[in-house]
Amino acid sequence: MGKLRAPIVIRAGRGALMVGVTMFFAALFGILTREPGFLAAFWPANALMLGLMIRWPWLGGPMGWLGGIAGFLAADLVTGSDPATSLLLTAANLSGICTGYLAARHLDIADRSLRRPSSVIRMILVIFLAAAAAGCGGAIANAILFDQPPVTGWVIWFATELINYIAILPVVLTIPTRDGLRWPGRLHARMLAPLGALAASAAIAALIGGPGAIAFPVPALLWCAVRYGLFVNALIAFGVSAMMLIGVATGVIALGSELAGQHALMSLRIGVTLIALTPIAISSVMTDRAVMMQRLHDMATRDQLTGVANRRQFDREARKAMDRAAAAGHPVAAMMLDIDRFKAINDNHGHATGDEVLRVFARKASAMLRPGDLFARVGGEEFAAILPAMAADEAVALAERVRRAIADQAMDLPDGRLLCVTVSIGVAVTTDCGAGPSPLLIEADRALYDAKDAGRDRVAHRLVPGGA
Ligand code: GH3
Ligand code: MG
Ligand code: MG
Repeated sequence: MGKLRAPIVIRAGRGALMVGVTMFFAALFGILTREPGFLAAFWPANALMLGLMIRWPWLGGPMGWLGGIAGFLAADLVTGSDPATSLLLTAANLSGICTGYLAARHLDIADRSLRRPSSVIRMILVIFLAAAAAGCGGAIANAILFDQPPVTGWVIWFATELINYIAILPVVLTIPTRDGLRWPGRLHARMLAPLGALAASAAIAALIGGPGAIAFPVPALLWCAVRYGLFVNALIAFGVSAMMLIGVATGVIALGSELAGQHALMSLRIGVTLIALTPIAISSVMTDRAVMMQRLHDMATRDQLTGVANRRQFDREARKAMDRAAAAGHPVAAMMLDIDRFKAINDNHGHATGDEVLRVFARKASAMLRPGDLFARVGGEEFAAILPAMAADEAVALAERVRRAIADQAMDLPDGRLLCVTVSIGVAVTTDCGAGPSPLLIEADRALYDAKDAGRDRVAHRLVPGGA
């Protein structure tokens, strides 16, 4: 029991520390950038805490919550806030975060990382609930602290929290995992063009101004949506809404005199943030489509049992490999591999064991080939390989290594018994690659029958007539 508990406690402690430190700095940022005597207009802490707990559910334990609360209070205390005010504001902040967290618990893992077309809609619902709850907590806090009518307090908190959550939550939810983090390599103009268009549309918005200026970046945002991944689009949405809001606040983007005043500014801030949601929603659809296309491609080209290429993919790729070899003047070798007495394995040990033998065989054999070689399951227990730029003696030696690797290492059965499997391999080589793969594969098949006739568990080879 003690052994089991220790890692859980360490993990919870680490979670509390992570949430606590993040909240401390996020709250500090909000406090230091607000105008004296006012609530912060940009308060990233709540959305960050909700995002962390949705994205990494292990942070959402009691220790994570305690860490977060400690972070909030610590930021207030080091900046000299009165403890009662600090507790009241933290409670209002938590009312939104808790509500968002409880609502997001109903979402599945795909929606939590915005990977489905409907994910953005579901996440907006969560955000509305969180902002509405923060509005209730804030209405009470503002009534006590600033003697403000509850409805005014509710509207102010609702609107600011809505903006904060919409701007920040998508960024946290789509942070790539360590495996998914890839630098695109050399950056070329094609990759950067949508960002250039975005900068240009911001400049045009500043130049022309007027109430429509906030929507000027939309075409460039759509371009970004189809060109970049989800996380980059979430960052862009955040950057664009921040830039537009700063542009309007500083007068760089002049919207016209009728758009001055608190009410119009709030409406504008919500509008800008909502516009920036468009690329995220489109990018979700694109991500979902890309995953589906990949799945379809896998189904069309891979053997579902063993994961190696299927016959259709083998035929297509074999032809391409032969064309490349013909152009380069290389020989090409082919192997046909057929598991010996496989029917008896099925009959004696059952189909499930037969399937497992196929999987293990495919894994072992394909691991022995070079990266550019083609390996496929072309029939029930028959596999084939195309080995470009390989001479006859090398191909026979490779086939012999594969045969030995299978014969020498018995496979473990689930019931603990060991199963000896052998394979017969036919090898053929040609230098006449212009004729396509058929003559080569026919000869490799004949060599396979030679190996079977000679007693199985062996390699036989033939030369393609008129070839090598
Ligand atoms: P040989 O040494 O002459 O190759 O004999 P063999 O028994 O391996 O050859 P045969 O062609 O008689 O039998 C092949 C068997 O492979 C028959 C079929 O039931 C089995 N088989 C085909 N596809 C699958 C599969 O996907 N899974 C399993 N478990 N068996 C399969
Ligand atoms: Mg067979
Ligand atoms: Mg067989």
